Amino acid sequence: MSSSFSGSSPSSPSSPSHPLTPYGWDADWEAAFSPYAAQGLLPGRVLRVDRGQCDVVTAEGVVRADTAFVTPHDPLRVVCTGDWAAVDPDGSPRYVRTYLPRRTAFVRSTSSKRSEGQILAANADHAIVAVSLAVELDLARVERFLALAWESGAQPVVVLTKADLVPDPATLAHLVQDVETAAPGVPVLPVSALSAQGLDALSAVVRGGTAVLLGQSGAGKSTLANALLGEDVMDVRATRDTDGKGRHTTTTRNLLLLPDGGVLIDTPGLRGVGLWDAGDGVGQVFAEIEELAAECRFHDCAHESEPGCAVRAALDAGQLPGRRLESYRKLLRENQRIAARTDARLRAELRKEWKRRGAQGRAAMEAKRGRLR
Ligand code: GDP
Ligand code: ZN
Repeated sequence: MSSSFSGSSPSSPSSPSHPLTPYGWDADWEAAFSPYAAQGLLPGRVLRVDRGQCDVVTAEGVVRADTAFVTPHDPLRVVCTGDWAAVDPDGSPRYVRTYLPRRTAFVRSTSSKRSEGQILAANADHAIVAVSLAVELDLARVERFLALAWESGAQPVVVLTKADLVPDPATLAHLVQDVETAAPGVPVLPVSALSAQGLDALSAVVRGGTAVLLGQSGAGKSTLANALLGEDVMDVRATRDTDGKGRHTTTTRNLLLLPDGGVLIDTPGLRGVGLWDAGDGVGQVFAEIEELAAECRFHDCAHESEPGCAVRAALDAGQLPGRRLESYRKLLRENQRIAARTDARLRAELRKEWKRRGAQGRAAMEAKRGRLR
């Protein structure tokens, strides 16, 4: 796959043959870019960012550009892989002048006290959550990754990898069902890079835009990326890029075109993603619990001992697995802890909340003891 485009007159940006169409360029991006086009700037997608520079694929090929104008103090506003950038048409160095508002963003909230989080990838449409079938399913972990995915704005897809290790179709169907209960609204696809099972279905999903791969180390992400990228992987990854001075350097791209269509973003940061701020995301992973909670008598019901609690009722009726509720609580708590690190006001509120919960819990315990004894 060539990194530069032949022909010196790129077609109109709206035509389907625009050189950036395979990278996800569409009519909405074009409309958002029009003020910059009017200034003579070039649109391009950021393939990689490093040490104050980035590689941007434009209609003229891959351009190395300086990021001095897009490295503000807020680390979430720094240009990152997947951004649509406005680049100088010429000059040495060329600069990225700005980038278009993001449709989606993956953010890592770091564990350090003073940090505000870090942007990992922009404008992904799909988040592929790789879950290995070689080890026992950990649904709580799946839910964690799903929360992170929903929070980004991308549509999650769970991929159960190494399906060749589960040859019995009935067993595989059960595993898929188990994961589906933890993933409302999310497709669950069993795949095997070894037997190629399910790869067509996955290709069909990722063809529709930009995908990122998430999942635990060992889940099979690299193998899956290679399977999606096909045999050209080494050619695709090693980009010969011209820096305008006639020198050629080989770099690694973090954003890759897939041979069957679509784009894959694979950055080291995303691979190690662990902590996150997934406020709304948690709600989407546990949509059925949030729906039940809307039926609770009290709008701030903690689903513990409050009267008229629809969540407890569903639990008692066997309609809601206890594991789901526990997992939901755990993720909410964890999420609040992370958020509290950077927000003193929220921390003060949490302390009040803990006091209230503590008092409530003690009252509930006493009531229970009274009932039991
Ligand atoms: P990553 O850490 O998520 O990138 O995982 P890797 O892609 O490195 O895979 C971890 C291990 O799982 C490696 O030993 C792979 O050979 C193995 N593996 C990956 N995909 C498959 C598969 O489809 N079938 C089987 N049986 N093993 C696989
Ligand atoms: Zn309730």
